[in-house]
Amino acid sequence: MRVFISADIEGISGVVDGSQTSEQGFDYGRARRLMTGEVNAAVEGALAAGATEVVVNDSHGSMRNILIEELHPEAKLITGGPKPLTMMEGIDGGFDAAFFVGYHARAGTRGVLNHTISGKVVAGISLNGRTYGECGVNAALAGRFGVPVVLVTGDSMTAAEAQSVLPGVRTVAVKEQRARLAARCLQPEKARHLIRAAAAEAVRVAVPNGEVKPMVVGTPAVFEIRFHNTGMADMAELVPGARRVDDLTLSFGHDDLIVAFRALRAMIYLAGVI
Ligand SMILES: [Zn+2]
Repeated sequence: MRVFISADIEGISGVVDGSQTSEQGFDYGRARRLMTGEVNAAVEGALAAGATEVVVNDSHGSMRNILIEELHPEAKLITGGPKPLTMMEGIDGGFDAAFFVGYHARAGTRGVLNHTISGKVVAGISLNGRTYGECGVNAALAGRFGVPVVLVTGDSMTAAEAQSVLPGVRTVAVKEQRARLAARCLQPEKARHLIRAAAAEAVRVAVPNGEVKPMVVGTPAVFEIRFHNTGMADMAELVPGARRVDDLTLSFGHDDLIVAFRALRAMIYLAGVI
């Protein structure tokens, strides 16, 4: 049993603010330690339930957040970026399940630190007509390789979003939003206890019973991306094959989800130039 973990930081208990999520922030060091702790809890749960290999992909910002010297000794870490599949780098058809740890709600919903991929340029993303956050987009990438996402942790809005996208998924809500930059948080030990238990239960029960199906999107895979201003959309339109839907929105479709995803990322990078 091989388990892939994509780990973000905005959905970790105690993390509510840019001073914790940015490398320049004064509280970043504590946040990355809290992130490493919740990732370890997920690793411990998976191993206790019989996982034989756990690969962790650091998925936030520079993608060099997790403290490798404090990581569970049995886990392997993909660190650094940019990397081709970004938050899903390292996924392949040999994994039996994926976990999303420390995830956050999509742009435009009221979850803690909500955004989708890039808060700076992206107002919203849809795939084949349905709006998704990072949870949905990354679950689709896992599904492309036949891998089900069986556990998602983050705030309560993220848990609800995951359940609507992935029927049967196990979720752990480690905090509840009071405002975009404020939350009522579980103490980290409590959050880790719940994550450990849910990870074990997911591996022991949900995976062998096939309770969560790999997310499958139709063909072609068509991303629509809405930007914050028209200058960003102008830049994104430089991607060959991108289609201007309206002043702020572009679309890109391809039979292979991975190709469409690459175009999505290229549009976001270009939009970020201005
Ligand atoms: Zn992040």
